[in-house]
Amino acid sequence: MQIFEEYAKLLVEVGINIQKGQNLVINCPVDCAWFARMCAKAAYAAGCREVIMGWKDDELTREKYLHAADEVFDSVPAWQSEFYNGYAKGGAAFLSIAATDPENLKGVDSDRIVRTQRSSNKALKEFRDLQMSNTVPWCVASIPILSWAQKAFPDVKAEEEAIEKLWQAIFGAVRVTGDGKAVERWREHQETLKKRVDKLNALDLESLHYTNSLGTDLTICLPEDHVWAGGSGFTKGGVPFIANIPTEEIFTAPLRDGVDGVVYASMPLVHDGNIIDKFHFVVKAGKIVEAHAEVGEETLKAAISLDEGASRFGEVALVPYDSPISNQKLLFYNTLFDENASCHLAFGEAYPECVKGGEDMTKEELKERGLNESMTHVDFMIGTADLKITGKTWDGKEVPIFVDGNFAL
Ligand code: ZN
Ligand code: ZN
Repeated sequence: MQIFEEYAKLLVEVGINIQKGQNLVINCPVDCAWFARMCAKAAYAAGCREVIMGWKDDELTREKYLHAADEVFDSVPAWQSEFYNGYAKGGAAFLSIAATDPENLKGVDSDRIVRTQRSSNKALKEFRDLQMSNTVPWCVASIPILSWAQKAFPDVKAEEEAIEKLWQAIFGAVRVTGDGKAVERWREHQETLKKRVDKLNALDLESLHYTNSLGTDLTICLPEDHVWAGGSGFTKGGVPFIANIPTEEIFTAPLRDGVDGVVYASMPLVHDGNIIDKFHFVVKAGKIVEAHAEVGEETLKAAISLDEGASRFGEVALVPYDSPISNQKLLFYNTLFDENASCHLAFGEAYPECVKGGEDMTKEELKERGLNESMTHVDFMIGTADLKITGKTWDGKEVPIFVDGNFAL
């Protein structure tokens, strides 16, 4: 049990960094209840006021999408918005255990999915804004469930073996070995990320140019006063937390109207219970004007048409091809891991922290600074072994940022 407890403790004490007297909301699949209990115990041991559970279940979710009355997908009951908005306004922390069958909603009417997203994003807007602006600490992490493990390891027939293999892959990714030193390793790792962040911020780039053999040829302009971030975020009260465990990325926001060219995905994307694969976007003045996918094109097109900002970009993230997750050479079918194995972009909302002083700006001010606004934010992977990224400074100097898939800085 020791290794699992070490992991739970890492999530609660370093990921969330629970404070004495603070509430903790844990969203978790029912299959993973045993692990939620461990997280709750770790939280109470650290002085948490109350742990509140939000239970999830793939099978019930799928049943609902297939058989519930149609109007259900257009509204959110008041108690549910009060749950999220109320706890967030009260300063709770939010831990999500993200574990789902990558194809849980295959065959579901995509209109129902889109309507659910619209209604839920509207109803939980306060919660989402408090989360996006780091006003409340949040952390997304994962543990295996069978359906997901079988997708990640399709050749492994024995159920227990598939679960065990996924655990090993996750532990490798999150630097947990059972030796009790995970917290120290994370502090070191954060230092490495911070050094990269500092280097990129010092460069103060005007734009980035991406090319690789998949056919990507994309220019991304960055907002003036943009900020690269990575590793710890900080709540407004100055408490450090880590929004994703694992995290290998450093990221900033692109200029809303400043993205042009073609970009090819380098890995499948699991989105809304469906797999989207072999896709690319044509982008003009920041807007996706063409989207093509060999697999899941309907899901992809629905995702980028959720609202106006869904067809523009909100994040540009750098992850070396040679990194602990990438080196496992495993497709996780879970964005939390796959995005941390590869350079990626996100379509949808930008994080306010990506521009100086952004966390205290209104939506309008952020938009004026060039940041994209949307009710969605979806990372997709674009990194390859031959990815080249060249930065350009405001005085026109070219700086190699990535050569052959890895940092050149
Ligand atoms: Zn990211
Ligand atoms: Zn993202």
